[in-house]
Amino acid sequence: SLNSTTNLHNGVKMPWMGLGVYKMDVENGEARDAVLSAIEVGYRSIDTASFYKNEEGVGEALQKTNVPREDLFITTKVWNDEQGYEETLEAFERSRKKLGLEYLDLYLIHWPVPGKYKDTWKALEKLYNDGKVKAIGVSNFLPHHLDELLKDATIKPMVNQVELHPQLNQPELRAYCDEHDIQLEAWSPLARGKFFDDPIIQELAEKYSKTPAQVILRWDFQHGIVTIPKSSSKERQSENADIFDFELSAREMNRLESLNEDERIGPHPDEFD
Ligand code: NAD
Repeated sequence: SLNSTTNLHNGVKMPWMGLGVYKMDVENGEARDAVLSAIEVGYRSIDTASFYKNEEGVGEALQKTNVPREDLFITTKVWNDEQGYEETLEAFERSRKKLGLEYLDLYLIHWPVPGKYKDTWKALEKLYNDGKVKAIGVSNFLPHHLDELLKDATIKPMVNQVELHPQLNQPELRAYCDEHDIQLEAWSPLARGKFFDDPIIQELAEKYSKTPAQVILRWDFQHGIVTIPKSSSKERQSENADIFDFELSAREMNRLESLNEDERIGPHPDEFD
């Protein structure tokens, strides 16, 4: 269920599924309402970022809900132009205030800004050691970024959030993160619907009386990958969460691996700007 969690390497429990809120608006109440409906559906994990400019909207929902703080898992991220040691400590405070929280559950480096991400990591280690955040991690890091980070890190990232879906199934990164006990988290797990009409997805959806989105999210779950599908609609939030009552066979999982095209919808982590 939406309550099931994975243990990060420091013992913190992170829900297998959360709500992504990229592109949700603050002014018209979209972010607030989507978070509140997701919480009603049973979601306990929310993924935002300072870059999304909707931390206030998420914060409004967190003010309103009756679900206790300790049952929620709130992630935000430090944006590229906020990186560096002091800058990151300040960015964290800005995000924390916008969210209206005493502490965060997970703070991520959004992208590996060359020449900066190691200083940024030092700031995350300080925030963690000061108890302001329960877990720290990275996003869009390739193995070579992680190798570089681990040379001087005193704390190993607990999470790496990357673009990952059956058309970009990231075998090397999955192996690397497994080996280092870093939890992988998939962004754009549905690839924004790009391959819902793939014949294999369609066939499996029909076989299990599930939707294409549910087949894809189940594939992640069986691989031990955390997902954060985005939807503002309560119906789709419920649909995406309803993946805990069927199981894909080993052969079916393999058929889904065959969808890999190493094709990204977002930028390559060595080429973003
Ligand atoms: P996604 O793969 O979650 O797809 C979302 C889109 O699919 C939306 O347009 C939604 O309307 C539609 N959708 C959702 N559920 C559906 C369903 N059941 N049936 C049909 N359509 C459905 O894409 P995303 O929003 O890019 O990624 C999810 C989250 O990942 C983001 O909201 C954000 O929190 C995070 N993210 C992180 C990064 C990063 O760099 N770290 C980058 C992009 C996204």
